[in-house]
Amino acid sequence: MKVTFPHMGNLWIIIKSLFESLDIDVVVPPANSKSTLNLGTKLSPESSCLPLKLNLGNFIEAAEAGADTIAITGGVGPCRFGYYGELERQILHDAGYPYEVIILEPPDGSLLGLAKRIRYLAGRKNSWAKILGEIRFAYYKSVALDRTEDLIHAARPRLSNPVETERMYKEAKTRLSQATSYSGVRESVHWLQGSIRERQSNDPEKGKGAGEPLRIGIVGEIYTVLDPFSSVDVEQQLGQLGVHVDRSIYLSGWVGENIFHGLVQGYRSMLPYHKLAKPYLSHFVGGHGQESVGAAIQYAQEGFDGVIHLFPLTCMPEIVAKSILPKVQKDYQIPIMTLMVDEHTGRAGVQTRLEAFVDLLERKRLKKEPVLANKVQVSDAAK
Ligand code: SF4
Repeated sequence: MKVTFPHMGNLWIIIKSLFESLDIDVVVPPANSKSTLNLGTKLSPESSCLPLKLNLGNFIEAAEAGADTIAITGGVGPCRFGYYGELERQILHDAGYPYEVIILEPPDGSLLGLAKRIRYLAGRKNSWAKILGEIRFAYYKSVALDRTEDLIHAARPRLSNPVETERMYKEAKTRLSQATSYSGVRESVHWLQGSIRERQSNDPEKGKGAGEPLRIGIVGEIYTVLDPFSSVDVEQQLGQLGVHVDRSIYLSGWVGENIFHGLVQGYRSMLPYHKLAKPYLSHFVGGHGQESVGAAIQYAQEGFDGVIHLFPLTCMPEIVAKSILPKVQKDYQIPIMTLMVDEHTGRAGVQTRLEAFVDLLERKRLKKEPVLANKVQVSDAAK
């Protein structure tokens, strides 16, 4: 059995470490790219959302490297992701890729069902104690990975050499992926903290009383928010425009709430978002639609300069959130920009919109004037 899985940002670091520690033969698909998306788009129903197209592209590329089994998470509720595992199996079989698909979800809330599926993948050679121990370690690593990403978000606008900053980020991820002990994981985070501190104190350009950078919160659909290819590197682009980005969703927070049913808390809990969203959206609408509304309110209350709402075209939960966010924007006087992505999204169009939004926020901060983001929205679909 050669197991593969969908790419979603840095998720591969955690899955690869977990599977290898359990002696599961794992095939990491090539990083998401235009070619991955083209392959997946050819097989996907036209109205499907970006994650399905990229997942299919990942599995076709992984099949070429010998993968024959897919491990994918499931889901419940109105979002289509819940049946993507089965849909992908059927599409791939029809296209001549006879994959076995293992859906890692707690069916009907039963964690035992989830544990049995992991045991099936891990095989009887691994004891329950070993499996649970490795899952715990992988989770610890995912919290450290989230911390790593957060440190880089803060570092980008405060260091003057973007190439060096991205190199540090890459090195930190390599150290983390190679760590095989709890202390090794902690050391990789400490290494990044130390490196950033050192660069900052030696940075002549940024060290001399530069003002506090703008702060923008990113809310939206989890796959698009976590996956830089899907978001056209929004976080990195903003960082290089001098913005401190904060993300409302992190991998370990999502895993803690969706896979472990809230039994463990990840890097960023999404629970406060539900309460905040209630006056505007009082019930679950699938995906993270309700969380997007609550997170935007939290950013406004914390004094952020602006919010970017990021999601793929045809994503129903986020379309619900999009219809509500203009009211949040008005009530809290916080500019909110919508960024919808699909396979036609181009980097130049996104960059132009980001520059216009940052420019607007800078003027607002300077003049302290109430400016709303819809003045700069040229279109929801990026050019
Ligand atoms: S949340 Fe939206 S984009 Fe994500 S799988 Fe569901 S419908 Fe698709």
